[in-house]
Amino acid sequence: MKKHVVIVGAGPGGLAAGMLLAARGCRVTMCEKDAVVGGRNKAVKLGKYTFDTGPTFLMLREVLDEVFAEAGRDSNDYLKFKKLDPMYRLAFGDGKYFEPASDHKKMKKEIERLFPGESAGLDRYKAYEKKRFELMYPCLQKTYSSPLDFLSKNFRRAFMHFSLGRSLMDVLKGYFSNERLALTFTFQAKYLGMSPWECPGAFTIISYIEHAFGVWHTEGGLSKIADAMAKVVKEHGGTIRLKAPVKRIITEDRKAKGVELSSGERIMADDVIINADFSYAMTNLFRDGEIKQYTRPKLAKKKYSCSIFMMYLGVDKKYTMPHHAIYFADDYKSNVSDIFKRRVLSKDTSLYVRNASVNDKTLAPQGHSALYVLVPVANLTGSIDWKRERDAFRDIVLDTIERKTPMKDLRKHIKREHIITPDEWLSDYNVYNGATFNLAHNLGQMLYFRPHNKLDEVDNTYIVGGGTHPGSGLPTIYESGRIAANLLCKKYGIPYTSKNTLA
Ligand SMILES: Cc1cc2nc3c(=O)[nH]c(=O)nc-3n(C[C@H](O)[C@H](O)[C@H](O)COP(=O)(O)OP(=O)(O)OC[C@H]3O[C@@H](n4cnc5c(N)ncnc54)[C@H](O)[C@@H]3O)c2cc1C
Repeated sequence: MKKHVVIVGAGPGGLAAGMLLAARGCRVTMCEKDAVVGGRNKAVKLGKYTFDTGPTFLMLREVLDEVFAEAGRDSNDYLKFKKLDPMYRLAFGDGKYFEPASDHKKMKKEIERLFPGESAGLDRYKAYEKKRFELMYPCLQKTYSSPLDFLSKNFRRAFMHFSLGRSLMDVLKGYFSNERLALTFTFQAKYLGMSPWECPGAFTIISYIEHAFGVWHTEGGLSKIADAMAKVVKEHGGTIRLKAPVKRIITEDRKAKGVELSSGERIMADDVIINADFSYAMTNLFRDGEIKQYTRPKLAKKKYSCSIFMMYLGVDKKYTMPHHAIYFADDYKSNVSDIFKRRVLSKDTSLYVRNASVNDKTLAPQGHSALYVLVPVANLTGSIDWKRERDAFRDIVLDTIERKTPMKDLRKHIKREHIITPDEWLSDYNVYNGATFNLAHNLGQMLYFRPHNKLDEVDNTYIVGGGTHPGSGLPTIYESGRIAANLLCKKYGIPYTSKNTLA
C-alpha cells in the first residue's frame, strides 16, 4: 500500500519534499493556505507587472537541479535559466560602485579598479573558502538527531574550519585590508537576516558559493521555480490543494495521524510534513504545550532574523539600472545597529533594488519596469508601529532611491504599487515575528541546535523550510525537503537514489 504523506504548505521546502516523495511512489497531498503555490517564493502580480515576492538570487543551482533529477526530471525542461554577469552592483554612499563577477579574472580586475593592490586577497579567499565549503557543505546535508552526530567524521573534519568566535567581518578582514572591500563579501548575511558583525565567520561560504558557482535568474522570475516544482508533484500523481489552510496537526499517542483544515475537513495520513514557518507552526498547529521543546516561552526566547519592508513598483519607464543593485547606507554600521540592536527605523537606510526587466522582457510591458525594493528592518520584537510608520517610511525609501540611484524621477512614474511591512509577513504569510529569514543563524541555533527535520517529540512528523536545519536560503531549504524525504523513505524501506547520501 502506498504511504500517504500530507504536506502543510507548498513553499520551496514542502515542494522539494513533495516532488521527491511523489516520484518515489508515495501518495502526496499538499495543503496550501494560499490560492497559489510558492509561499515567500510566489509571484506578486500587479496588472501587467510581475514580481517575485521574496527570493531573487538563485544560488547553488546545482541543488535544485539534483532535486529535479532525483524526481526523474531535468530542470532545464521546466525553467529558462540565465547566469548573471556581473552578479550584482554594490553602491556606496559616495557614488562609487563595485560589480562582482564569478569569473575569477574579471573579479580580480574589478577589485583592482576600485581597491588597487587588494586582488591577491581574492586568491587566498577562493583557495581557503573552497576548502571550507567542501568540508562544511556535507555537515549541512547531514541529519542531526543526537549530539553524537557531532562525532561524525565529516563534522570532525569540518569543525576546525568553523572560525569559532569570529564574525563574518573578522574573517573577511583576514583576506582584504580595505574594510569596504571586506564589506562587499558580507552583504549575503541578508539571506540569514543577520548583521555581518555578528554573523558566524563560517558563513563566508555563502559569498564563496556566489563567487564559485554564480548567481542565476529564471525567466518569469524565481516564482517560476515553485510553479515548476508543483508541476512535477502533479505529474507524479501528487495532489495540491489550494486555499486549504491547515488548522491543526491531528496527533494521537505522540504520533501524527493527519491534519484538520480550517473548514473542519480531516485528512488522515501515514506521515505529515510541515513546511509552514517553523515557529508559527509550533505555536499554532499543535495544542498549547504539546511540543515541550518548543513551547511559546521557549520559542519567544530564541533569536530571530531581521524583517523586510518590501515595495513592488510597476513603473512606466526603463532605467539604466542593473539587474541587482545594493545601496549601502552612508553609515552602514549604524543602519545595521538600528535593525538588530536598537530595533528602530533608520533615516539613512540600506536597500536593494532589483530591476530584472533589464534581462527579462516577460515581467513588464515594453518600455516599463517591474522594480522590487527590499529594505531590511527590525523584526516585530521591536516596538515599531507599522500602521503609523508605513507611509512615512515609504517616503524615506523613495527619497533614498531618488537621491542615490539613477532613478531621480521614480515617484512620477509609479503606476502600480504594493507594500509588505513586517505586520503583513506575520498576518498574510504566517511568519513568526515577521522574521522573514526565520530563526537566526547563530551557532547556538545551527546544525543539531536548529529544529531537526524529523520532529523529536511526535512520530511521523517531519519539518522543512528555512526555520529548520540546514537553514534559510533556497538551496538549504531544498536540502531540508530532501533530508525529510530521505528520512521518511528510509523508515519505510522505500527505495530511492539521492546525491545526499548523508540523510
Ligand atoms: C523578501 C525575501 C527575499 C529573499 N531573498 C532570497 C534570495 O534572494 N535567495 C534565497 O535563496 N533566499 C531568499 N529568501 C529566503 C527564502 O528562500 C524564502 O523565504 C523561501 O520562500 C522560504 O521557503 P520556505 O519553504 O521555508 O517557506 P515559505 O516560502 O514561507 O512556504 C511556507 C508555505 O506554507 C504555507 N502555509 C503557512 N501556514 C499554513 C497553514 N496553516 N496551512 C497551509 N499552508 C500554510 C504558506 O502559505 C507558504 O506557502 C528571501 C526571503 C524573503 C522573504
